[in-house]
Amino acid sequence: MLLRFLSFVFLSYLFFAILKFLLSWGKRQRGLRSQERSTETEEMVLDPQCRSYLAKDEAILRSGRYFCSDECAKVYLARGKENDEGAGMKDREGGTSL
Ligand SMILES: [Zn+2]
Repeated sequence: MLLRFLSFVFLSYLFFAILKFLLSWGKRQRGLRSQERSTETEEMVLDPQCRSYLAKDEAILRSGRYFCSDECAKVYLARGKENDEGAGMKDREGGTSL
């Protein structure tokens, strides 16, 4: 009777050990994948003046647009006032701006 009980405990312990191992293994796989994704997707923004892509962290934000330098921002914004080319774009950015 005691032996039966012990074998039951042993089997259930084994079962949970395997289950735990499988769960932790799955988590590790998922963790690795999410880490890779976070390093890959550094957000890039387009400078509308010189049309070059740069990291969002390095970009300068001027009236809802990202620029590589102050010069680009000045030129672009000065030009934007003359012709209302970006009128439609401004509306779209209103929803996404922080
Ligand atoms: Zn630029």
